[in-house]
Amino acid sequence: MKRLKRWLRGPTAVLVLYAAVALNPSLLFAHELRVENLVLHSREPLPPEARTILQAAHDRVAKSPYFDANDSYDLYLCDTPALFTFFVPWARNVGAVSLYGVTGNIYVRPANVANDRLIGPHGKEVPGVRTLTYYFAHELTHTAMARKVGRFAYFQRPSWEVEGYADLIGKAGAFDFEAERARFRSGDDELDPAKSGLYLRYQVFVEALLREGVSLDELPNADLEQLERRLRQ
Ligand SMILES: [Zn+2]
Repeated sequence: MKRLKRWLRGPTAVLVLYAAVALNPSLLFAHELRVENLVLHSREPLPPEARTILQAAHDRVAKSPYFDANDSYDLYLCDTPALFTFFVPWARNVGAVSLYGVTGNIYVRPANVANDRLIGPHGKEVPGVRTLTYYFAHELTHTAMARKVGRFAYFQRPSWEVEGYADLIGKAGAFDFEAERARFRSGDDELDPAKSGLYLRYQVFVEALLREGVSLDELPNADLEQLERRLRQ
């Protein structure tokens, strides 16, 4: 008994508590909104726009054959950067994360839900096509795809494929393939993910292969060097 008491007071107790919360995040999120088979968890009551956004994210990801209408998907909207970092400490500078290798839960940075905008790591709303709807749909695609192909197989797939495909689904057509291909050809920095933090280059690759008739299953086996040559022609 004494040993147990000591054990419960030490660093192990902190780890056990952390694991308990990480595996049951709903303990920290009092509110939830259900739309179709998606559940959005939050600590504060959500504005009415949340339903529209969740429905739109569902409709985007439901277009992917990887999505399972009989499965359930959980998104956790963190209302402070600290809470987001608590769940995904290795990814503090990204917008949202799918824990597709473990629970498939999705953690999202603070957002201005009424505006359909994520508040980025620098404290400003992310502009452009990357709306909150986009972030939800992008991460849902990761979770759905990993569950369908198997998480270990998914880990081995190239990042250009998984990110390019998640953006294709997440942006739902808000992508001008020929314009982006032209920017790829001219060496535009935005088409360099290392410089821009964007997946435009990867989406060009995925869309080009799909246009050539490559199936989703065959995507990860594509020869990228040859593809880049074709795209530059
Ligand atoms: Zn992603």
